[in-house]
This record gives sequence, structure tokens and C-alpha cells, in this order.
Amino acid sequence: MGVLTRPARHSGSGHLEPLRLAVVGAGWYGCHIASELIRDGHDVHVFEAKPEIFVGASGYTQNRLHQGFHYPRSSQTRKQSITGFNQFKATYPFLGRPIADNIYAVAAVDSLLDAETYTQIIAASGLEYEDVEPDAFHLENVSAALRVGEELLLTAGAKDYFAELLRPYLRLGDPVVELKDSGCEVFANGESFDAAIDCTWGASTALGESPWTDLYFEPCVTLLYDSEPPVRDLALTVVDGPFFSVYPYDDEHCTLTSVTHTPLGRHGSYEQAVATISRQDGASLTAVRTAMERQVVDYWPGFHDHFRYSDASCSVKTKMRSGSDARIASIRRTGRQIYVFAGKVNTIFMATSEVRRQLAAIRREILR
Ligand SMILES: Cc1cc2nc3c(=O)[nH]c(=O)nc-3n(C[C@H](O)[C@H](O)[C@H](O)COP(=O)(O)OP(=O)(O)OC[C@H]3O[C@@H](n4cnc5c(N)ncnc54)[C@H](O)[C@@H]3O)c2cc1C
Repeated sequence: MGVLTRPARHSGSGHLEPLRLAVVGAGWYGCHIASELIRDGHDVHVFEAKPEIFVGASGYTQNRLHQGFHYPRSSQTRKQSITGFNQFKATYPFLGRPIADNIYAVAAVDSLLDAETYTQIIAASGLEYEDVEPDAFHLENVSAALRVGEELLLTAGAKDYFAELLRPYLRLGDPVVELKDSGCEVFANGESFDAAIDCTWGASTALGESPWTDLYFEPCVTLLYDSEPPVRDLALTVVDGPFFSVYPYDDEHCTLTSVTHTPLGRHGSYEQAVATISRQDGASLTAVRTAMERQVVDYWPGFHDHFRYSDASCSVKTKMRSGSDARIASIRRTGRQIYVFAGKVNTIFMATSEVRRQLAAIRREILR
């Protein structure tokens, strides 16, 4: 278990005073950024609306520690994924685990990229993989299969780790309902801070006008399966386009998601996406499940021999309207408010560097 200690500060001249910072939201981004800023010596207060951390999207990901294989059509996302994967392994080696047979298969029909183009892009990005025979995994209707090194994110472990690490800094069940920027300080629920860092992934309208005008919100459904005997070392992702992934979840379960069937809609606000989730019932989830399973068995007829349906979970994904397939992190600042738009989990490092850059600019403004 890590320990957070602020660097010793001296009262003499030449030393920077800590900033008093409000971090809003305690998912992967809020927790990682807060812990880094505490290490930098700042006075950090983490506001989380819910009584626990990791209850937003961070608690319901597919747990893929991305390396870039999922993004053959966005070089920017591949670059962020490769760098982020390596930073994640170096920083949180205990929060990821390898998957022995992590297979990406290129669909023979309807793939946006053919197998040759896909593998050329992947190889040119410097990503390592091994060609494997689709037959060895009982796959059908695919024209290539690659064994890759993407890992499993250990989300339950991350939640425990940050809950303990940030215990003195967390304000759980304390939503920020009002954020006001006076120009020389920012007030969160009436309390003064030098700056506020919005890590809510666009979920909160209470934090004022978002600097992004092009966000939309996707309610998403993820299916959970029991595996008997346990299939902890096998993952299958069919690319490139409207296909699906089967990914380990823990030692006994896997998740099933589908590019076509996981999104339940597309909304202009987080609240509308949550309303769509709350309208789901047994019948609508069964329809989604039937559609997803039908998609899987076209490529992996033995799916039902390994996995039995157990449950479904829903969460909200925030996306930017854009013609590209980029899934990148982005940081913007308005006055004393810094807005963090999450990419993938492993872009927390890139986001933290940018937040630090913005805080340095705020500090310069304070000293002016
Ligand atoms: C279905 C799905 C699958 C995904 N799979 C993967 C994957 O396999 N790998 C990967 O890398 N990424 C994946 N992602 C993306 C990943 O979930 C995000 O990158 C990441 O979780 C974003 O973290 P966050 O901290 O920005 O947001 P969140 O985890 O959503 O945290 C935001 C927090 O803010 C809190 N909050 C909101 N409003 C307020 C307020 N006013 N005051 C205080 N607190 C507030 C919320 O309660 C929440 O805890 C997936 C996303 C979805 C939806």
C-alpha cells in the first residue's frame, strides 16, 4: 500500500507555497491526479458526490489496459495508449495482470480494415504481437488472429488502493453543487480554493458551462458471464468495426461488450443517459443479450461451452462529437477551473502532466 507524503517545505524565500485545490470526482482521473498533486505538495481536497470512490465509469470499464490494438484508425489514440500502457506498468505494476491468450481477430467480412492493412498499421506503430492460427482458438469467419500483450486492469484493487491512499483527503457523499470563479479564487460550495479540477467526465452541470460544446453521453450495457472451469487467461476482441469483445473480469467471470449493442442511445446530457439506463428492464436487457450472443457465436461458436450468462451492468460513456475515431484525453482551462476530459484509463498520466502545466500558469497569475 502506498503512502502519500508531501515534500518538506521551507519557509525561506524561493520556495513555492502549496496551492489549495478542489478535485471534483473520485474515479480513475480524480484519484490519480489528486494523489500526484498531493505528492507535489499541494493542499488537495477531493469531492465525490457518492459515498464511495470509483462508482462512475471507472467502476464499470471493460478492464482493458489499452496498448493501442483497438485503435488502428487513430494514430493519436495509439500513441497515447502505448505511452500510457508503459507509464501504467511502471507506476501501478500491482494494478494490472497479463492475459496469456489475449487475441485480436480481424473479421473476414465487414471489417473496416482488411487483415493486411490492420497488421501493417499495428506493426508500424511498434506494437509487438504474435500471429496465431484462428483454428487454434476455434474461431470462424476471421482472416487473421494476433496474440497481444494488453493486460487486465484490476479495478477492485485500484478502488481499495485509492480509498486507503486518499482517505485523509476524500470528502465522500459531498457533491459540488456550485462552483464560482471570482477571477482570483474559486468557490466550491462556498469554500475558497486557488483552483478546481473537474474530473467528473462531463457528468456535472453544477460545475458551470463545459468548455466542450461537442460532448454527448452514451448509456452502455456490459454483460457478465460465469466461466466454468475458470477461463481467466483468454480474451477475444474482433476488429475492426462493429464487432465485440470477450474480456476477463476476475478469476471466474468475463465481460461481453459489443460496438453495436453496448450503447443504448446517444444523449445531449448525462441525466438523459442515466434516465435511459433506469428504463431498462428484464425484457430490454434480454434483447440486448440475445443480439450480442448471436454476434459472438458467428465468430466463436464455442462461446456457450465456456461461459454462462450471469448479470448485466450499465454505465455512461462520455464522448466528443468528431468525425475521427480518436479516444483521447483532453484538458482545458477557464480562469481557475481546469476541466479534464478522460480518454482511456491509461491516459491519466498525460492528463496529470497537462493539469500540472495549467497549475503552473495559475501560480504565475497569482504571483503577478
Ligand atoms: C462501458 C465502458 C467500458 C469502458 N472500458 C474501458 C476499458 O476497458 N479500458 C479503459 O481504459 N477505459 C475504458 N472505458 C473508459 C473509462 O471508463 C474512462 O476513461 C474512465 O473511467 C474515466 O474516469 P473519470 O475519473 O474521468 O470518470 P468517472 O469514473 O465517471 O468518475 C467521475 C466521478 O465524478 C463524480 N461526480 C460527478 N459529479 C460530481 C459532483 N458534482 N461533485 C462531486 N463528484 C461528482 C461521480 O460520482 C464519479 O465518481 C470504458 C467506459 C465505459 C463506459
